[in-house]
Amino acid sequence: MKLIFERSVPGRGQDIFPECDVEVKLPESPLREKAPNLPEISENELGRHYTKLARASRGVNDGFYPLGSCTMKHNPRINEVMASLPGFTRIHPLQPADTVKGCTEVVDTLRKTLCEITGMDDMTFQPAAGAQGEFTGLLLIKAYHKSRGDEGRKEIIIPDSAHGTNPASAAMAGYDVVVIKSNEKGMIDLDDLKAHLGPQTAGLMLTNPNTVGLFDENILEITRLVHEAGGLCYYDGANLNAVIGIVRPGDIGFDVIHLNLHKTFSTPHGGGGPGSGPCGCKDFLAQFLPGKRVVNGEYTQAENSIGCVTGFYGNFLVMVRALTFLLTNGSDGVPELAKNAVLNANYMQEKLKDLYPVAYDTTCMHEFVMSLESIHKEKNVSALDVAKALLDFGIHPPTMYFPLIVDEALMVEPTETESREVLDNAIEAFRAIYKKIIDSPAAVAASPVTTPIKRLDEVGAARHPILKYDFSQEKAE
Ligand SMILES: *Cc1c(COP(=O)(O)O)cnc(C)c1O
Repeated sequence: MKLIFERSVPGRGQDIFPECDVEVKLPESPLREKAPNLPEISENELGRHYTKLARASRGVNDGFYPLGSCTMKHNPRINEVMASLPGFTRIHPLQPADTVKGCTEVVDTLRKTLCEITGMDDMTFQPAAGAQGEFTGLLLIKAYHKSRGDEGRKEIIIPDSAHGTNPASAAMAGYDVVVIKSNEKGMIDLDDLKAHLGPQTAGLMLTNPNTVGLFDENILEITRLVHEAGGLCYYDGANLNAVIGIVRPGDIGFDVIHLNLHKTFSTPHGGGGPGSGPCGCKDFLAQFLPGKRVVNGEYTQAENSIGCVTGFYGNFLVMVRALTFLLTNGSDGVPELAKNAVLNANYMQEKLKDLYPVAYDTTCMHEFVMSLESIHKEKNVSALDVAKALLDFGIHPPTMYFPLIVDEALMVEPTETESREVLDNAIEAFRAIYKKIIDSPAAVAASPVTTPIKRLDEVGAARHPILKYDFSQEKAE
C-alpha cells in the first residue's frame, strides 16, 4: 500500500483554518530554511489511510494475543474515559501545585497503593518505560554504595533467563554484568550464585516469577545470600500479573523494584508508548530518588537525588489509567486477577503439553514456555513456523525464541482477561496445527496464507532496515 507521503497532493486538505492574519516576528536562528515536507491529504483520505493500516495489523482488540512476558491484556474503556477528563488533560507541569490538587492526589494515591502492593516505602513515576525503571533502580543502588564509600562494588548479577533489558540497563548504569546459570528446574543455581558473590557485588537483578514462568523456590535464600555479601536486591516487576496482591517483593528481601504500568496495570502498549515504569524502593534508598516529585500534594525533590531521568513527573495519563484499573478492581479483585492469570496459563499448558512439550514440566505461574526442539528435529517445522500458522487462526503469535535458555521456545501468556472459550479456541488451533505438522509439514512452513502480508524477509528487515523516507528518491521518479 502507498505511504501517507505518496498519497499527498499539493494543496489538498488545507482549507480547515482561515489564512493566518497574525504576524509574528521570530528571530532568524530558529527558523527553518524551507517548509517541512508534510503530507497534504484530505481528512477523508487520511481516515481511510489509517483505517487500512489498522486493518492490516493485529492488536488485542482483534483477538487473542498471548505474547509471553508482555501481558497483552484487555484495557478497560473506563480507564480511557478517566484519562480524557479535561481536569487531567488540560494541565501543565509548571502550574502551581495548589491549582492541580486532583492531579497531585492521583499521584499520591497511586504511589501509596503501589507501595502497599509491592511492599516498598517510596516510589518515583519519572521512568517512562520498564527499561528506564531498571536503569533508575540501578542508579539508586549505585548511589547507596557510593554514599557509604563502598565503591569497589562493580558487578550486577543477572540469571541467564533474564529479560534482555536487565543486562542492558546494568551496562548503561556502568556495571559489569555477571551471568549466573539456571538449574534443570529453571531456577537460579544456588552454587553458581554463591560462587559469584563477594565484595565486588553491587546487587542482583531478578524477575520472579522468571521468564520461564516459574516462581523461584529458593527466593528467601537468594536474597539473604546477596545481602550477606553486601549487595542489594533488585526486583524486575515489569510483569506482576502472577503475584499482584499475593506476594510482595518487599517482603521477600527486595530493596528496589520497577513496575510496568503498561503491562500489569492495563494501560495500552505496543507501538512505542507512552509507557510508565515506576521505580519503588525501601526507605533507606528514598533519599536518592530521581527528579521532580509530587509528595502529599507538593512538588519536591529527594535530598540526595540522582537527578532527573525524564522531564517533570512522568507520563501522568498512564498513571490515571493505572489508578482507575486498581480502584475498579479493588483490594478483593486484585489478588483475584493474579489467580485467574495463573489459572489460565496452567489450563492452556495442561491442554497442550501432550503435543507441545513444556520446557519445565511443573505448575507454571502466569505464563509457560513450550520447546519445539523435537518437532523441529523430526519434522523440520520451527517455533517460527507454528507462530506464523497461528495467524491463520486469527491468533497473535506467542513470544518466540525467548527465553534464550530454551531451544525453539514459544512463550504463552494468556492473561486473566481471556474467557475459557477464547482459551479453548486457541488450544484447538494449536492442536490443529500439530495435526498439520504431522500430515503436511510443508503447509505449516508456508503459513500464513490469510494475512494481508505473508512471510516477511525478517533477516533483511533486521540487517538492512529502512527507517527513513527518502524524499529525494520520490522527486527523481
Ligand atoms: C517488558 C519487560 C521489561 C521492559 O519493559 P519496557 O517497558 O519494554 O522497557 C523488562 N523486564 C521484563 C521482565 C519485561 O517483561
